[in-house]
Amino acid sequence: MKIHEYQARELLSKAGIPVPPAGVVETADAARDAFIRNGLPVQVIKAQVFAGGRGKAGFVKLVKSADEAYQAAHFMLNNRMISVQTGPEGIAVKKLLIAAAVDIAHEYYVGLVLDRAKSGVTVMASAEGGVEIETVAEKNPEAIIRRTMHPTIGLMPFEARNIALGMGLTGKQAAVTADVLLKLSRFFVQYDCSIAEINPLVLTKTGEIMAIDAKLNFDDNAMFRHPDLQAMKDDTETDPLEVRAAAANLNYIKLDGDIACLVNGAGLAMSTMDVIGLHGGKPANFLDVGGGVKKEGAIEAFRILLSDKKVRGILVNIFGGIARCDLIAEALIQAGKEVGFRVPVVVRLEGTNVEKAREMLAAARGDLPTLQSATDLNDAARKIVAAAAA
Ligand code: GDP
Ligand code: MN
Repeated sequence: MKIHEYQARELLSKAGIPVPPAGVVETADAARDAFIRNGLPVQVIKAQVFAGGRGKAGFVKLVKSADEAYQAAHFMLNNRMISVQTGPEGIAVKKLLIAAAVDIAHEYYVGLVLDRAKSGVTVMASAEGGVEIETVAEKNPEAIIRRTMHPTIGLMPFEARNIALGMGLTGKQAAVTADVLLKLSRFFVQYDCSIAEINPLVLTKTGEIMAIDAKLNFDDNAMFRHPDLQAMKDDTETDPLEVRAAAANLNYIKLDGDIACLVNGAGLAMSTMDVIGLHGGKPANFLDVGGGVKKEGAIEAFRILLSDKKVRGILVNIFGGIARCDLIAEALIQAGKEVGFRVPVVVRLEGTNVEKAREMLAAARGDLPTLQSATDLNDAARKIVAAAAA
């Protein structure tokens, strides 16, 4: 799960990391009022969207008057933000952060990431922070310090101090940065983060160290133990079909192709997508209805697949175990009657109660004219690719 910068600032501030004060507004008028209320000569207005690269896209603006605050907010709320992280259609901006601007002497990068290759958490830091950090990582990787955090002890104070010194900091600033690293690393573990990044961590002209942007991502599977994070969830940038699927406990990810698949089991779903590809098709989604799916969940799955306008065919590939084939057949028949199959549907069933399921489908054939059965997965993929192209 992702959260917005204003939420991340709140959490990091609570964790004891120095963050300039800020507020959130949703209209240009509110931005003007906030500017006046804050009473600071220079403030910064920033789009609150999950994508990064806002600075380069013109969605982070320093403002020096209430009028400028209004203008900047008006621009951001009425133009879609297009950055390297958004895709060409960009995203709409609904919320803005308005914060005390800081006078920057230098921009640093600090971050922690769940590193699957290392089976641990990698702590990263660089004296070359700011909007070019991706280029630094690519062209000049030695400018980024990397340390694997100990899995049980966590980041140790001497390691944090060494990293801060490695960033070129000295004296009080090195001590504060080491403290930020320790606090961020504890936050990472406590909140089950997958990414916790401060970019930039700045040194101000008055010698203070402060976090002025933060990106926090959390492990979805740990959400049950973080009610405070659940309350921060914002689905407005998530595909509505994915939100619906999550509510029905379905593992659904929308993709670019036109052949929908409904499968039980993540591994089977992956191989089904591969076999569709092998026969020249492109999957419209990944959908694992799970081992213990009930009839309602399966029907909702069909509704979700059918409401994707790009879908030109559905491949149902079920290996009946706990989720019996007859239950899937029943859901399929009911979904067909309720929603109507506007596209070809090819069904391949194997496993528990398969005979019964085949009989049910054969009996319902009159109601489901676009339905075909397949003998195996290759046959199924071949048939659905041909039917969708017809
Ligand atoms: P991002 O581009 O989405 O990562 O947004 P950031 O919040 O990191 O802002 C991008 C850049 O804007 C920063 O790297 C800074 O150079 C600049 N910036 C952001 N806030 C301030 C501020 O308070 N004062 C100054 N002088 N620059 C800022
Ligand atoms: Mn940033």
